[in-house]
Amino acid sequence: MTPSQFENELTIHEHTQAGTLDEFHRAYEAAVDDIRSDFGATHPLRIDGDEIETEETFTVTNPGDTDQVLGEFAAGDETHVDEAVAAASDAYDEWKETPWDERAALFRDAADIIQDRKLEITALMAYENAKTRNEAIAEVDEAIDFLRYYSSELERTEGYSADTREPTPGQRCVSDLQPYGVFGVVSPFNFPFAILVGMTTGALITGNTAVVKPASTTPLTAHAFFDVLAEAGIPDGVANLVTGGGRAVGQPMIEHEDVAGFAFTGSREVGLEIQRTFDELDKRGPVIAELGGKNPVIVSDSADLSKAVSGVKFGAFSFSGQKCSATSRVYVHEDVADEFTERLVAETNDLSVGKPENRETVVSPLIDDSAIERYDDICDTAAADGTVLTGGSRVDRDDRDDLPAGRYVEPTVVTDIPHDHALATDEHFLPFVTIHPVSSLEEGITKANDSEYGLCAGLFSEDEDEINTWFDRIESGMCYVNREQSATTGALVDAQPFGGWKYSGTTGKFAGGPWYLQQFMRQQSRTVVG
Ligand code: GLU
Repeated sequence: MTPSQFENELTIHEHTQAGTLDEFHRAYEAAVDDIRSDFGATHPLRIDGDEIETEETFTVTNPGDTDQVLGEFAAGDETHVDEAVAAASDAYDEWKETPWDERAALFRDAADIIQDRKLEITALMAYENAKTRNEAIAEVDEAIDFLRYYSSELERTEGYSADTREPTPGQRCVSDLQPYGVFGVVSPFNFPFAILVGMTTGALITGNTAVVKPASTTPLTAHAFFDVLAEAGIPDGVANLVTGGGRAVGQPMIEHEDVAGFAFTGSREVGLEIQRTFDELDKRGPVIAELGGKNPVIVSDSADLSKAVSGVKFGAFSFSGQKCSATSRVYVHEDVADEFTERLVAETNDLSVGKPENRETVVSPLIDDSAIERYDDICDTAAADGTVLTGGSRVDRDDRDDLPAGRYVEPTVVTDIPHDHALATDEHFLPFVTIHPVSSLEEGITKANDSEYGLCAGLFSEDEDEINTWFDRIESGMCYVNREQSATTGALVDAQPFGGWKYSGTTGKFAGGPWYLQQFMRQQSRTVVG
C-alpha cells in the first residue's frame, strides 16, 4: 500500500459536491434528538477488558445547558492507575508480537465502525463540549483519518522494518523500530474524540499498550472510542481507560515506573511538567506533547480584505476560540487597518452565538466555569488597558430567551493593546483577538515571531514575494496563506501534519504526518553473521 491510497474523510465537502447537504443537516438533527434522552448513566473505568466501578464519581453536564446532566463517571485514583498499568504491562508482550499487518487491520476496522456511527458521535459532541455541527463532523472525520493514515503508514513501511547494507559477505543486517512498553495518554476537551483517537492509535498501532485519561469534562467521547476498540477486537489490557482528575489520575500515570512514554495534548505548563517529571525520574522514553499557541496573522496592504476578514473571524471565533490553533493576534498594515478592523467588527457582530446544535451557530458556549472566569478577567483588563471594539461581555439571557443556562459569551475584538501586553502574549483559549497596526511586512513578521509559541500562523497577501519572504521567516509549525475558511485552524491529516515549534510542542514531529509514529518506537539494528 502506498500513501497515495490514503484519502481524507470529507463529509461536508462530499455532501456539498453531491448536493445532499440538506440531507446531512436533517440526519444530524435527528441524531441530536435521538440521543437527547440517553444521558444520565454511570460510567465505570475500563481496565483489562473489565468495567470497574469506583466509590467516588464525578458529574458531567452540558456546557450549553448546565442543568442537563450527561452522566456520572468513575473517579479513578492511584490504585486504579496501578491496576491499569499492570494490565497494560501484562498485555504488552503478546501485543508487540502481533504482526504489524494485523494491528493495521484492526485500526482500519475501528475506522469503519466509526464511519458507521459518524452522526451519533458527532451529535454526542453537541452535548459534551458544545461543538457545532460542522466542527464536530470534521472532528469525527479527522479521527477516521488518523486511524486510516497511521494504518497506511505501517503498511507503507512494512511495519517500520528495513533491510540494511550487508557490510561484508555473510552478514545479514536489518534495522527496525520497536515499541517501548506502556504509554500514558492524556487528552484535552477541545478535540475529545480526534486527539484522543490520534494519540491512542499512535501508541497502540506501533505495538505499545496504553492507559488513557480523557479530560474530565469530556469522558463520554472517550467511552465511545473504547466501545469501538472493543468491537474491533482489541485484546484485553491493550487499551485501558481511567477517568478522573489530573492530580488523582494524571500525576500517578506520569510518575508510574512502568509507564515508559507519554503522549499529551494540552497546556504548555502541564506538558513541560510531564517532561520535567520524566527527566527527574530518569525515564528514557519520549514525552510526545502538543502544547499551546498564540497564533499570529499578518494582513498585508496587498491583501484581499474579504478573505482576511473571513479567515480571522472564523480562525478566532469558531468553537469560541477554544483551540490551540485559534487566531489570537492580528498584525495589519496601517494603510488597510481601519477598513479591515471595521469590517471585522461588523462581521463579528453578525456571528451567531448560540446552542451548538443550531445550524447557524458559530460561537458556542465555553467549556467550564474557569473558562468563563478567565473570559471576564481578560475582558476587564482589555477595557482598562485598551479599546474593546466589540464583545467583552457574557451574553445576557434577558435578551435571549432562546438560550438555556449555559456559558454563552460574546466574541471579542480588542485594539490599542501593546504588542508585549499579557493579552497579546498569553494563550487564553477564548473568543478573543487583538488587532495591532504595523507599518510593514517586516514589522509584522518580527512581532509575529516575538512569542514563546510557534504553532500556527496566517498571512493574507496577494504578493508572491511577500508570501515567499513570510514562509522563509515565520517561526511556526503550521503556515497558511489566504485561507478564508479559517486563517489558522483546521489542519487536515496527511495534507497538513499538525504541530508546533518552540514551546508549542516537545518533539517537532507532527500528528497526522509521516514522522509521527516513529516517535512511539526505538530503533534496533539486528545482525546475523553466517
Ligand atoms: N488540529 C486542530 C486544528 O488544526 C487544533 C488542535 C488543537 O487545538 O489542539 O485546528
